[in-house]
Amino acid sequence: MSGFTLLFLAALACTTATRLWLAGRHARHVAVSREAVPAEFSGSISLEAHRKAANYTIAKTKLGMVETLSSSALLLVFTLGGGLQWLSDAWAGVFAPGGYAHGIALIVSVVVISSAVDLPFSLYRTFAIEARFGFNRMSLALYFADLAKQAALGALLLLPLVFCFLWLMAKMGSAWWLYAWATWIAFSLAVQFLYPTLFVRWFNKFAPLEDAELRSRIESLLAKCGFRSQGLFVMDGSKRSNHGNAYFTGFGAAKRIVLFDTLISRLAPPEIEAVLAHELGHFSRHHVWKRMALVFGASLAFLWVLGWLIGQDWFYAGLGVQTQGTAMALVLFFMIAPVFTFPLQPIASLYSRRHEFEADAYAARHADARDLVQALVKLYRDNASTLTPDPLHSAFYDSHPPAMLRIARLQAARQ
Ligand SMILES: [Zn+2]
Repeated sequence: MSGFTLLFLAALACTTATRLWLAGRHARHVAVSREAVPAEFSGSISLEAHRKAANYTIAKTKLGMVETLSSSALLLVFTLGGGLQWLSDAWAGVFAPGGYAHGIALIVSVVVISSAVDLPFSLYRTFAIEARFGFNRMSLALYFADLAKQAALGALLLLPLVFCFLWLMAKMGSAWWLYAWATWIAFSLAVQFLYPTLFVRWFNKFAPLEDAELRSRIESLLAKCGFRSQGLFVMDGSKRSNHGNAYFTGFGAAKRIVLFDTLISRLAPPEIEAVLAHELGHFSRHHVWKRMALVFGASLAFLWVLGWLIGQDWFYAGLGVQTQGTAMALVLFFMIAPVFTFPLQPIASLYSRRHEFEADAYAARHADARDLVQALVKLYRDNASTLTPDPLHSAFYDSHPPAMLRIARLQAARQ
């Protein structure tokens, strides 16, 4: 067994064990806190709602543990188990080995197999867990229609990108990764631009916001924040789920504000205004651009590493593959990268939570912090989000700070 194989196995074992350990801690912490609403929320959240949030969190966490095991096993089957080599050999009987068609067939079959393995988990999450806690509103027909549309959209967007990558790898010599990076940036920007204006309409319907009181509140908030938008829209989020949300889309002059119908039906207009002020905070502090710059920087580093690995025999052999090539290198690299980047997860989560605090501070300045606190409490209650996450699990994964910390800061901001 080669040194790289041992390194890969050790990293996979560490990552999987850490994920399971964190999930186990989280489920236990939530279970222990199930029978008492934290004092700060005792006036606003009932014991029944608190118990429901605990049960919902534990159910999702346990499913996540099974998924972690399943994805680690699949990774082993594909690599050291010989799955990728088998697929490559099988396609070599259909397409010329090493050609574009062979490479694309290999990549597509890996994506299809991985999605098929994920499918039962996704079905269970939607039709067992979400349904049991009263959140799911999808029929099986809608679920599979969505799946078909997502597959079509994925093929439409990703097949040309994959072809482009394979072509650059074949034609551009040792600096191909630099060209690939530029292509990747152009592609992501185009998707960022097209998704909210075009593709999202395949999945949801948008209507102009009718409510006059809410409109005028939002318009005066936008004026106060010096923000111009291309319209206020309501999206039929209730078509799929009872979870509520608000978001912003678009760049430059094409900015649109979208509120889920589930948010409007639950929150009072001042609370919606405060939630929107938080979203405006993300915009005004350039969080989207900052995150994108970080992702682009990281992808440059990733592609540079791939550019080096692609010529190393030990990289393929250490992962159970004899047939070297550009498509195989791409598949192997993107398959094993998460195993090695897992330690970066808490840093990314910390960065995201800092942005949430900044957006809350902005909301406290431009709207009423009390309204945002009220809105958060309602959203936590109605989404059955736990108020008592395990601190370590939260530090590792949570993109949003725990409710108690956010609310404490908002209350402090008012004084
Ligand atoms: Zn936010």
